[in-house]
Amino acid sequence: MTVVVLGGAGYIGSHTVDRLVEKGYDVAVIDNLITGHRAAVNPKARFYQGDIRDRGFLDRVFGTETNVEGVIHFAAFSIVPESMENPLKYFDNNTGGMITLLEAMKDHDIKRIIFSSTAATYGEPKQIPIKETDPQIPTNPYGESKLCMEKIIKWADKAYGIKFVALRYFNVAGAKDDGSIGEDHHPETHLVPIILQVAAGERDGLKIFGTDYPTKDGTNVRDYVHVMDLADAHILALEYLKDGHDSDAFNLGSSTGFSNKEILEAVRKATGQPIPAEDAPRRAGDPSTLIAASDKARKILGWKPQYDDVEEIIRTAWNWKQSHPKGYNDRGEA
Ligand code: UDP
Repeated sequence: MTVVVLGGAGYIGSHTVDRLVEKGYDVAVIDNLITGHRAAVNPKARFYQGDIRDRGFLDRVFGTETNVEGVIHFAAFSIVPESMENPLKYFDNNTGGMITLLEAMKDHDIKRIIFSSTAATYGEPKQIPIKETDPQIPTNPYGESKLCMEKIIKWADKAYGIKFVALRYFNVAGAKDDGSIGEDHHPETHLVPIILQVAAGERDGLKIFGTDYPTKDGTNVRDYVHVMDLADAHILALEYLKDGHDSDAFNLGSSTGFSNKEILEAVRKATGQPIPAEDAPRRAGDPSTLIAASDKARKILGWKPQYDDVEEIIRTAWNWKQSHPKGYNDRGEA
């Protein structure tokens, strides 16, 4: 039996593929390599380059990979500010891509999907920590595109019996602890890798977006999970569906919040670098505080995150950064 991982050359996808291979699963990866990296894919996984919006391509892959026990779907755009400027790009790839994928799954009789959803589906929360049953009112098109995916799949489950697990990620950071794979976005927009670029001398300083939020120090508060712990949750979710359980959604977070200034301090400690920073205006679409209630995933999926120290998470990212100063170095840049 094969697990097909869409977006398996991306940051979270490549770590999940690595873990699946390590655990002995047979893995096939689909990725269009727009944001992913071929070198990030574990060589024991079969690789198909193509786009999830291309129905003919999906048919060819599912025609070759005929024994699929489930798909894990990461192939999506995920940058909040970009989604504010170009919402249709997000609805086309994320929401539209999901429809094409589900049609192909239906026709090839594939009945299980684990997919990346996000804390951004909740929008500005009414209460902290956020529970899975809380209202989902996104404040940006990225979150809305993912919420649409959640809604579409519920109906596909009812009509075609495609069982799903939606995993609502909070903030992800870190890298495999041997430093062989890690986070490499072009351009980079996420907080931890940006601060590490400053630590490495690639940027002059960090701009802290917004210092007047109603939080402990005025900066946004986020909940960070190690990428390998996230990878494990996908495998547990697949096994949960294979055991015959019903479709569901789970938050994946640590249940602890760190402000942007606290993350900056943690990176200063983990790297030993001074890291200059300046206050900057708010970034459009950012909710003030996002902290997960993650007891549901722990209880029902049996999820046990291995990393509970944010500095330790940052150290793994710094290890990757130092061993790969240019990331995968596959974008033809000097
Ligand atoms: N952020 C920041 N400066 C940066 C990049 C991000 O202050 O150069 C802030 C951002 O406004 C948010 C937090 O860091 O409050 C996390 O942002 P990120 O893009 O990493 O993840 P998101 O929460 O959008 O998924």
